[in-house]
Order: sequence, then C-alpha cells, then structure tokens
Amino acid sequence: MGNPWDCIVVGAGAAGLSAALVLGRARQRTLVVDAGGQSNRDAHGIGGLLGHDGRPPAEFYAAGRDELAAYPTVELRSGQVLRGERHDEGFVLELADGSRELARRVLLATGMDYRFPGLPGIVERWGRSVFHCPFCHGWEVRDKPLGVLDRGVTGVHRALLLRVWSDDVTLLADGPAELDAEDLERLREAGVTVDERRVEGLRGPDSRLTAVAFADGGERPCGGLLVPVTLHQRSALAEQLGAAATAPGPLAVDALEVDPMFRTSVPGLSAAGDLTVQAPSVANAVAAGNTAAAMLVGGLMNEARGLTPS
Ligand SMILES: Cc1cc2nc3c(=O)[nH]c(=O)nc-3n(C[C@H](O)[C@H](O)[C@H](O)COP(=O)(O)OP(=O)(O)OC[C@H]3O[C@@H](n4cnc5c(N)ncnc54)[C@H](O)[C@@H]3O)c2cc1C
Repeated sequence: MGNPWDCIVVGAGAAGLSAALVLGRARQRTLVVDAGGQSNRDAHGIGGLLGHDGRPPAEFYAAGRDELAAYPTVELRSGQVLRGERHDEGFVLELADGSRELARRVLLATGMDYRFPGLPGIVERWGRSVFHCPFCHGWEVRDKPLGVLDRGVTGVHRALLLRVWSDDVTLLADGPAELDAEDLERLREAGVTVDERRVEGLRGPDSRLTAVAFADGGERPCGGLLVPVTLHQRSALAEQLGAAATAPGPLAVDALEVDPMFRTSVPGLSAAGDLTVQAPSVANAVAAGNTAAAMLVGGLMNEARGLTPS
C-alpha cells in the first residue's frame, strides 16, 4: 500500500475539487479518486454560482482539475472506490483497478443519486427543460407556461414558488389532487391552474419541452416542468466505514450526519457536498469542501504535534 496519504478525497465534483484545492495549497499528500458522474453534468449550465453563473458544468469541473495541477502533492485519479475499511493508521480504500490505498484521513464527496419520477420524456430533458430546483433553472424558462408535477401539498408550495418565474403555472396532479379547500383556494388566488388528467409523456424537440401530453389524448403547452426528487447515497462506502446517516429529510433520504466542521460520526472521516445536505447547490458544495479540508489539515497538524487529534 506504500506511504499513507494524508487524505483521500472520494469524488471530484464541486465539494471534492474544492477540498482538494485547500489540501494541495496546504501541501498535504492527497489522492483524489473520481468516477466522473457529477450530478449536474446533464444541465445546460450552473445557475446561481457567483463568478460562473450559467457556465456549463463540464467546463467548470475541467477548470477545477486544471487548478489542482499546480499542486504537486495532489494526485487526481479516474476510477471508483469500491470498498473501504478502518485501519490502525486510518483507512484503507480499495479501488476498482484492484489497488489498495492507505490514508490518515478520508473525505467523502461522493454526491447523491437524484431520483425523479419515471415519466417518459424526463431523462432526455433532465437539467434543461425538466428540473427539480427553480433557483437553478427557473430563470432559463421564465415567462413560459410552466408545470409542476406533484399531487400533494408539496406541489402547492412548489407551484406557488414557481409563480416567481411565470404568470402561467399549472399544477399537474396526474390524478385526483390530494388537496384541501384552503390549498385549492391559495392556488386559485395565485392564478395557478390544477389539472387532474393523467400525465402520459412530454412533447418537444431534443431537450426542449413544448407540451405535456395526457392519457385522454389532450395536451397542455408547457415550456418547463418542475418535478419532485429524492436524493440517495450512491454506494455503501459510508456505511462500510461506519458513518451514521441522519433521519430521512424532505429531500435527502439518507444524508450523512456531520458536525459544523464536516466530521462524520467516525473519527478521521469527513464528508461534504450533497452527501450531507438537504439544500444541495454547487455553491454550498464548494463552501463545504473548503471548510472540511481546512479542518482536516488542522486535525492532521494536531496529531503530528501531539495535540488532541480532531
Ligand atoms: C440536473 C441537476 C442540475 C443542477 N443544477 C444546479 C444549478 O444550476 N446550480 C446549482 O447550484 N446546483 C445545481 N444542482 C445541484 C448541484 O449539482 C449539486 O448540489 C452539486 O453538484 C453537488 O456536488 P458534490 O461535489 O457534492 O457531488 P457531485 O457533483 O455529484 O460529485 C460527486 C462525484 O463523486 C463521484 N463518486 C461517487 N461515488 C464514488 C466512488 N465510490 N468512487 C469514486 N468517485 C465517486 C461521482 O462520480 C461524482 O463525480 C443540480 C443538480 C442536478 C441533479
């Protein structure tokens, strides 16, 4: 296994790249392993990231990787971490190429799997005309007729929110809406239409959306569709290493528990980015990676100087 790394960062999305930059600048021997599956890679651009607003995700990640090249203690490896276990000196991670790497600290920045409804037509429009976050994509579809796919009370909130971006918003209940009279009145007052017809699919060329198609053969013009998602861990890695998850939240089903310094329940194991949050965004992931890495450097220094490790 050779010399232990000071830190292995698993995942090179916004959180992992941001952490690796801090670790590299602090001259820590750092291995970054990444499977190349950042969650927003299909999106037209990154909405709402200061300094990079609207920038295509692939370009943003390439720029992050280029910046890391300036720091000789950082090695970036394409691949997947398959398994992990605790070790006297820290952690051992096993990569898909069969190599085993020892590290004093591990930072999990593996992101989350976004699961959306299985409606035909979503996959090819995902992150473009079909989206889960109006703050990320609402601007691009502003003033178009917009739809919210959701039958229950969460749909009410999301439909009212979407009115920020368009006067023409329809709540697509895909069957009988499960709403009380008060909610229906709120929607009516805000000018939101409720359509209870069964939704069958989406219409429009390539990744664009022009209409929602119903099972009764009808269609409704629609230029942007907000859909519900749930976020799930992508692998059993955190569990293998012993990290505790939080109770299921409104968005993330099994986010990891971390303290304000992004330390998990396992000493020496930190986590940052989507893996730990209920409010995912690139900006939050960058900030979390930055803080987590600075705290890791502090902890390694404490250990080296015989202070209480953290
Ligand atoms: C379609 C879509 C559009 C979005 N648009 C926006 C937007 O416009 N603005 C915004 O602020 N936010 C947006 N978001 C949210 C934002 O993309 C995420 O909050 C952010 O990218 C999370 O960063 P991360 O580093 O935690 O995870 P990710 O970016 O998902 O990166 C995790 C990386 O870890 C790798 N990985 C996972 N497991 C392993 C393993 N075992 N071994 C090796 N590598 C592994 C993955 O392959 C991936 O490359 C969007 C999300 C989606 C799904």
